[in-house]
Amino acid sequence: MYQKIKGTDDLYGEQMKYWYWIEKKARELSTIYGYGEIRTPIFEETKLFVRSVGQDTDIVQKEMYTFEDKGGRSITLRPEGTAPVVRAFVENGMIAQGFPQKYFYIGPMFRYERPQSGRQRQFHQFGAEIFGSPSPMADAELIIFADRLLKEMGLIDYEIHVNSLGDTEDREKYKEALKEYYVQYLDVLCDDCKVRYERNTLRLLDCKVDAKYVENAPRITDYLGEESKKHYEELKRLLSSVGIEYVEDPRLVRGLDYYNRTVFEIHHHRLGAMSALAGGGRYDGLIKEIGGKEVPALGFAAGIERLILSLKSENVQVDEISKNIIYVTYLGNKEVRNEAIKLAELLRSEGIPVGLELMERSISAQLKHASRIGARFCVIIGEDELDRDVVVIKNMETGEQVEFEKNFVVNGIKDMIQEMQ
Ligand code: AMP
Repeated sequence: MYQKIKGTDDLYGEQMKYWYWIEKKARELSTIYGYGEIRTPIFEETKLFVRSVGQDTDIVQKEMYTFEDKGGRSITLRPEGTAPVVRAFVENGMIAQGFPQKYFYIGPMFRYERPQSGRQRQFHQFGAEIFGSPSPMADAELIIFADRLLKEMGLIDYEIHVNSLGDTEDREKYKEALKEYYVQYLDVLCDDCKVRYERNTLRLLDCKVDAKYVENAPRITDYLGEESKKHYEELKRLLSSVGIEYVEDPRLVRGLDYYNRTVFEIHHHRLGAMSALAGGGRYDGLIKEIGGKEVPALGFAAGIERLILSLKSENVQVDEISKNIIYVTYLGNKEVRNEAIKLAELLRSEGIPVGLELMERSISAQLKHASRIGARFCVIIGEDELDRDVVVIKNMETGEQVEFEKNFVVNGIKDMIQEMQ
C-alpha cells in the first residue's frame, strides 16, 4: 500500500469545515481591509529564497525542498510566501500601480522540519503583504488586521508579541554587543549556537537549549537609533489607541533575514511547543535586494493547521458544510429513472443539496443509506407513483410520508425545508 509522505496530510470529510471557515473569514476580511488576492507558483528558482530568506537561516540551511528539474535548473518548493510575492511584484512591474498596494495569499508551503503536532512538511499559510508605506500606520494596520482575523474566526486565547529590530546599523551594533556577551559562553553553547554565534547571531536568542543565557543578554531595544525608536513608539501608540493588547518582547527576532524595524508574532496559549499562530514584520530592504527599486514593505503569515488546532482547543463552533438535505430514491423502469434524475436536477437548480441514488439498491437499502448520510427528506419514485403522476416525500426524522402531485413537488419540498429550519 502506498503511504503519504511523512509530514503531509490528506484533507477530507468533517475537518474540511475548519478549512472552509478559515478561508472564508480570511477572504472576507481581506476584502474589507482592501487586500487583493495574489497566487504565485508553488516552486521558484532556489536562489530567490537563498537571497531573500537568507543563506544562514535554518530554512535555507536545513529545510528547503530543493531539486534539479529536467532542464538542470535548481528549483525549490516555496518554504514561505513573501519572497514569491515580492518576486512577482518586481517582475510584473506592479510598482507602477501606485502605493500602497496590498495583497493576500492562501496556499501550501514546504519545509523539511521534524513533524509533530502543529509542525508539518507541507503546511498552509494565509499571508498578507503591504507595499509602499514606510509609516508606522501601515505596521499598526497590519497587526490590527491579523488580530481582527483571529477574532473573526472566534479565537480569544492568544497573545501578540511585538519588537523592533531597528535598521541595519542598529542591528550591526546589537550583533556586536551580543557577541561580546556570548563570548564567555562560547565553549558551552550547543553546536547550533556555536554556528549561530558567527553566522546568524540574532538567532542565539531563539535557542531552546541555551535559553538560560538569554535572560542577561543585551536587548535590541537599547540599540535602536532615533528613527527606529520613534517608529516603534508610534506603532505602539497606534495599537493602544485602538485597544489592541500586546506584549513587548525584546527577544523576538524571527527566523528570516529580511526583517527590519517592526517584527511581531502571535502565540496561542493552548498549543504547547508549536504555539506561534502567525508572524511577520517589516522588510524595507527586500524589494531592492531582489532586483527592484527601494520600496518599503511589510507582511505576515498565519499557519492554517495551527489555526485549526486553536479553534478546536477553544471549542469554537464553525459553520457545518451543508449536506444533502434531500435524497432521491427510486425503483423501476426507464421512465422511473428518467423521472428521478430529472427531479434531482430540478431541485439542485433551485440550490437545494440533493443526493441521487447511484448504487441501484432496493428501496429499503436506499432509505437506510439516506438516513446514514443525514438526509432530512427522501423522495420516493416507483412505477405506481409515476402512473399516478405523484411523488412521495418521506420525512426521515418522523417517518411521516406525504404525496405531492408532480407539478407541486418542488414547491412542496421547499416549504418542508423552510418549516424544518
Ligand atoms: P514563519 O514564516 O516561520 O514565521 O511561519 C508563519 C506561521 O506559519 C507560523 O506562525 C506557523 O503558524 C506556521 N508554520 C510555520 N512553519 C510551519 C510548519 N512546519 N508546520 C505548520 N505550520 C507552520
